[in-house]
Amino acid sequence: MQAIHPPSSIDTLREALGRYLQEELVPLERQLGLGYEDRFPRELIRSVWRRCRELGFYGIHLPEALGGRGIPLTDLCLLKDDVAASGAILFPHVLGDWGGPSRIGSLVQHATPDQVERFVTPVIRGEMGICFAMTEPHSGSDAASIRTRAVRDGDHFVVTGHKHYISASTFADVAITMCVTDPEAGAKGISALFVPLDVPGVRLDYDCVPMTGQFVDADILFDQVRVPAANLIGAEGDGFRIAMDRISVNRLLHCPTMIGLARQALRHTIDYAHRRRQFGGPISRFQAIQHMVADMATALYACEQMVLATAARADRGEDIRTQASMCKLFVSERCFEIADKAVQIHGNVGVTRNHPVEFIFRRLRMYRIVTGTSEIQRNTVAKGVLSADVSRAAERA
Ligand SMILES: Cc1cc2nc3c(=O)[nH]c(=O)nc-3n(C[C@H](O)[C@H](O)[C@H](O)COP(=O)(O)OP(=O)(O)OC[C@H]3O[C@@H](n4cnc5c(N)ncnc54)[C@H](O)[C@@H]3O)c2cc1C
Repeated sequence: MQAIHPPSSIDTLREALGRYLQEELVPLERQLGLGYEDRFPRELIRSVWRRCRELGFYGIHLPEALGGRGIPLTDLCLLKDDVAASGAILFPHVLGDWGGPSRIGSLVQHATPDQVERFVTPVIRGEMGICFAMTEPHSGSDAASIRTRAVRDGDHFVVTGHKHYISASTFADVAITMCVTDPEAGAKGISALFVPLDVPGVRLDYDCVPMTGQFVDADILFDQVRVPAANLIGAEGDGFRIAMDRISVNRLLHCPTMIGLARQALRHTIDYAHRRRQFGGPISRFQAIQHMVADMATALYACEQMVLATAARADRGEDIRTQASMCKLFVSERCFEIADKAVQIHGNVGVTRNHPVEFIFRRLRMYRIVTGTSEIQRNTVAKGVLSADVSRAAERA
């Protein structure tokens, strides 16, 4: 992505980030012989968190009072694109996306001083990992239909239930867990609790392996887990609202990661098209290849401009509910098409297990499901567009 404003501290930040990625992280991964599907040791992940914290990248979007730099979303999008495009295998750990400060989001506003001290600050410092547990085996898009119960017992809640496909749970210490505290109240009966993952009654189940083969997601099973009532985030019944509060920004912030991955795929493709020779010359001289590359670059440009424009709206304090869903829908579908073309141009190399382009193809496919499927994004866009039309018609009447 190109920065849309004049040279500023974001350019300095991007240079420093680029140096860390290419001179430290990528060489470290090569030295350790890391593969995409390895089970990374917890200590390795934590050392990346700590180093990125030291360099000021980890949680960089947080307000300065919490140790971040309070950078605008437009700048965060540029940095997220850069880390994903870098080729580093551990890239989601650099800014704190997997198990780090990005999971906390607007929860900070609802956390008590005691919760800030026990959970928020250690996560921000890279000393503790955190995950967000909403989905259950029977409850995906219809998130308000969760059944995990938290029953009040004196100054504790007793939590019982099953959370499904929870990212970063394999290396998290605590889960922000959505539970039903009032089964009669629908979404208003859902509450959010910090649940440590090392207490009696918590078990992780690793049966669901995503198509990327990465060891990141697991199911979390809670069997009569006693959680102090002091771990309740906000008031009882606030959980669903708290979770939904940041959903638009979360959807938007997945986009630069997809764009960065697609950019990496395009870079590999251009390089390969120049190097690979068939019928007496490089395949880049075939118009069929040139057109695919042109379509890839055009789609990438549309995606990045759309995301930066939406981030700029959010930075101005505008409501981006509809636009964030448009971005998540459009970017996840276009970036997957870019990865598909990259595989095509790479021929047999592109379908070879764990080639970067093959891995990116699998990784980008998942984004059409996670954080709201494409169908759910279309529902949100349609609702926004149709209700805007109704209110314009009412104004005209
Ligand atoms: C790799 C990965 C990581 C994940 N990480 C987390 C995490 O960290 N925390 C967490 O809580 N969850 C996580 N999830 C769960 C994820 O949020 C859900 O998979 C997602 O919300 C979709 O739910 P579902 O898979 O149950 O699909 P379903 O909701 O069962 O949908 C099945 C199909 O029906 C369609 N559909 C459903 N409802 C509608 C409707 N109203 N209109 C039109 N079509 C509809 C869907 O679009 C889809 O095509 C993760 C999932 C994956 C795969």
